[in-house]
Amino acid sequence: VSNQPSATSSNILASELDVIPEIEEVFEYGLRVDTFAMHKGIIAQNEFVSDILNRFKVDNQTIHNLAINSADIFDFKKFRAGNEYTILASEESDSIAHYMIYEKDPIEYVVYNLNNVDDIQLKKRPTTRKQRQITGSIEGSLWNTLIASEIDPDVAVNLAQVYQWSIDFSRIQAGDQFNAIYDEIYVDGQYYRSDSIKASYFNHGDKEYYAFYFDQGEGKQAGFYDETGESLKRAFLRAPVKFSRISSRYSKRRFHPVQKRYKAHLGTDYAAAHGTPIVATGDGVVEIAAYTSGNGRYVKVKHPGAYKTQYLHMSKFASGIKSGKAVRQGDVIGYVGSTGLATGPHVCYRFWKNGVQVDHLRLDIPAGDPIDEENMLAYQKVKEEYMLRLKSQREQDNENTFVTTASLLQ
Ligand SMILES: [Zn+2]
Repeated sequence: VSNQPSATSSNILASELDVIPEIEEVFEYGLRVDTFAMHKGIIAQNEFVSDILNRFKVDNQTIHNLAINSADIFDFKKFRAGNEYTILASEESDSIAHYMIYEKDPIEYVVYNLNNVDDIQLKKRPTTRKQRQITGSIEGSLWNTLIASEIDPDVAVNLAQVYQWSIDFSRIQAGDQFNAIYDEIYVDGQYYRSDSIKASYFNHGDKEYYAFYFDQGEGKQAGFYDETGESLKRAFLRAPVKFSRISSRYSKRRFHPVQKRYKAHLGTDYAAAHGTPIVATGDGVVEIAAYTSGNGRYVKVKHPGAYKTQYLHMSKFASGIKSGKAVRQGDVIGYVGSTGLATGPHVCYRFWKNGVQVDHLRLDIPAGDPIDEENMLAYQKVKEEYMLRLKSQREQDNENTFVTTASLLQ
């Protein structure tokens, strides 16, 4: 046992004190943020960028110049309440601010050098993509199934989007099968969101619906096509509300629940929660947006080619909806309610062809443009590759008797 423990320990102490503490350099936004005091905040409702910068004693002339120089990079008017910002100030004093960073979205951010109003940069965080395949069969709720399988429920919305012209999701049944291929986007290695569907398959009833995304290039629309190259797009959507169920079909004779007598029901009723957005099923011009005791608040739209559609019992109109207003397919025109003669919240959807009210579910709606002759070979290649992957995935899952429960509705 040594006789000089005190000397040894004091030596160690001395040598430790001599070591210059190692400074860990921390980079964020492409800046060495550890040399600043970092102040993070969320833009409040009705708060201007100038309010934030004024708090850090940035003068109005500098703010004015930043706004002007920023115009082409990121418009000052586009700062949004709820988004995050960061101020990098001197460690000595908050009133000497050097940088402001605005988080445009999880990928993009803008760096403002407060000492040099010419130095404004829009930057991007690195993103990566992972391709994912999912499969399932209908039985219950797709939302819940996807969440249970740690799959983004947005995929259900995207899948409904792909088939919005061909499948009426208010009529899908237990046993219907689907699978899909899509990209997941990661920002800095963290899951951000699912991207649109690349290819999908839906077996509804006894019919198979394939969909392959393809971009025809130069000014032409990118979209979904079936296995023969026909566009999935139609002049009209299958339904004016996304997630709903049909509560009453078009019929020349049905018992009216309010009037208590038999009369024709020349429309299709979609039951949905009060306030659910109602969309125009096709491009057109609003002919009437009015109120009557029977229809309640309703909108009638005139479409090209002698078609008209009508949407009844709205709780309210979407803003700007009045006669003469041009609408595009999918534009929100109102919200589900039960105004007029209605027992519960629903939209009564009516469809005219050449002045005659018809059952839109039995109508053959003209399709969008198919794949061009010159793009057909390229399309076939894309289609065959995805089709093979979709098929082999379904076969594997059948062997493993893998079943997920799903419904695109509830
Ligand atoms: Zn009705």
